Amino acid sequence: MKIPYKIYLAENEVPTQWYNVRADMKTKPAPLLNPGTGKPLTLEEMQPIFCTELIKQELDNDTKWIDIPEEVLNFYRMFRPSPLVHAEFLEKALDTPAKIFYKFEGNNTSGSHKLNSAIAQAYYAKAQGLKGVTTETGAGQWGTALSMACQYFGIDCKVFMVKVSYEQKPFRREVINTYGASIIPSPSDTTNVGRKILAEHPGTTGSLGCAISEAVEVATSTEGYRYVLGSVLNQVLLHQTVIGLETQTALKKFGIKPDILIGCTGGGSNLGGFVSPFMGEMLRGEADYKIIGVEPASCPSFTRGKYAYDFCDTGMICPLAKMYTLGSQFIPSANHAGGLRFHGMSPILSELYDEGLMEARAYEQTSVFSAAVQFARAEGILPAPESSHAIRCAIDEALKCKETGEEKTIVFNLSGTGYFDLYAYKNFNEGTMNDYIPTDEEIAAALAKLPQVKA
Ligand SMILES: *Cc1c(COP(=O)(O)O)cnc(C)c1O
Repeated sequence: MKIPYKIYLAENEVPTQWYNVRADMKTKPAPLLNPGTGKPLTLEEMQPIFCTELIKQELDNDTKWIDIPEEVLNFYRMFRPSPLVHAEFLEKALDTPAKIFYKFEGNNTSGSHKLNSAIAQAYYAKAQGLKGVTTETGAGQWGTALSMACQYFGIDCKVFMVKVSYEQKPFRREVINTYGASIIPSPSDTTNVGRKILAEHPGTTGSLGCAISEAVEVATSTEGYRYVLGSVLNQVLLHQTVIGLETQTALKKFGIKPDILIGCTGGGSNLGGFVSPFMGEMLRGEADYKIIGVEPASCPSFTRGKYAYDFCDTGMICPLAKMYTLGSQFIPSANHAGGLRFHGMSPILSELYDEGLMEARAYEQTSVFSAAVQFARAEGILPAPESSHAIRCAIDEALKCKETGEEKTIVFNLSGTGYFDLYAYKNFNEGTMNDYIPTDEEIAAALAKLPQVKA
């Protein structure tokens, strides 16, 4: 059977259940801890912050398949199934015997996979009878996805956007406005924590950690509101498994067996969702794949971090997660344009990596952007800088095949498009982009501030 350039599934082949990889893991990811008591967080303790059904998903290590609510499936129809593309043009440009495929998650207005989880989280908030949700956004993809999802279910959405992005990305802000969310540059004078930070650091341009602190404060102090997060958590990886399940179905249709699966890693949600079903086959002893997570050399959580309990936010108010981390006080260099700036990593992927079930690689941003440009010129799509980390790795693996003559099948997740990252492209195209790799001393200094937890 000739493989088409784009493999589209039929609408009724979109998965109706999410796959919970934790059910197949022998060692479960470590639980979130209450930083006050050092004990695992209970449903009751999390209820003031998170939606109840989402907490249940967070804590559920055993249910292998979880039904996708019909209302969510209905929304998925607007942008799913997403195509699996046979990158024939890239193969030709590289002159490689390898077969390259990519799953394209950028074909919705948020420009990334984040809508897969945003719509699920907005649904559970609505079903619980809440008035609205709060969140933070850095680059803006998550804020956009959540504003679209909340608008669809008719609930309010308050987005705290890191001030520097708010000022540098006015168009991203306008997309969020279009979907009716309120968007507040962080730090702001609308919260106690924001006013405190502004008094201590006048003129600060903000950070993700600060925006999280403000969003959590508003959620916990406003009746009918909860806080939602777009990555890292188990529930988010669960929702993102629609990516991997569709990929698996599409590959099976044409009898394609992947050798290498690749995705970029910020907090781990797109890679986790993409590889979970394949990881499940490995955990059950049915198949073997080489799975690679790709991160920026300027924020190398997997490759240079430590597997330890740490705060998920710079403000040190969120629960403790056991994960590969550079320390919650680690701040990537200001010249870093390529996204994926989170200091930690999904606890699920951290456990799988620790067990040697997946690998990780770190690339410098100029080499990532050169892969982005090569990909854009060959395949037409302008990739997100984040996704371009996966492209860099896929190209390198394909070039290795060219040397050895092996016809490996490489499948990577193209998590999104880069239309709001044109300043970064401009810097790269004009030759003014440079690389920064943190020194061992910098990383050691941030790791020295890890919380003391017996784990
Ligand atoms: C947010 C984002 C990422 C990184 O987040 P993960 O949770 O690691 O997937 C990657 N690619 C795109 C396009 C994003 O918007």
